[in-house]
Amino acid sequence: MLLAHEMTHSFVYNLNPNISGWLTEGIALYEQTPVFNETIRKVGFITWIESDIKKGLIPKFSELFNGREITDPLVTKDYVFAGSFVDFVTMKYGYEVLIEFIKSLDFTKSFGKSETEVHMEWMKFLTEIYKNK
Ligand SMILES: [Zn+2]
Repeated sequence: MLLAHEMTHSFVYNLNPNISGWLTEGIALYEQTPVFNETIRKVGFITWIESDIKKGLIPKFSELFNGREITDPLVTKDYVFAGSFVDFVTMKYGYEVLIEFIKSLDFTKSFGKSETEVHMEWMKFLTEIYKNK
């Protein structure tokens, strides 16, 4: 897992040396998981961010990776939220769009939607996954 995580940082860095911290950590957290299936999605991530999602405390992209609220000595909730965003992007848009976003960091260019619209879609995705668990 550690090797996959750190190698992902290397690949992402090669696509964009100025990658945002939250995005590269989100991608690394997502890619370190060999198979990101429903079990991982619901059981693996749920214990970290479920209560925040149920309270509607989903961070804006600009608020991610502030290192707030450490839930484990090695992982902050921000990492997990960022990982769940990458899960959302690959599920809904695919790797082509993710790679475009890594390169440009531009929501409109990558998703064809504003940052606010993408954030709303992500919130809906999270709420639907976690509300009935
Ligand atoms: Zn990392």
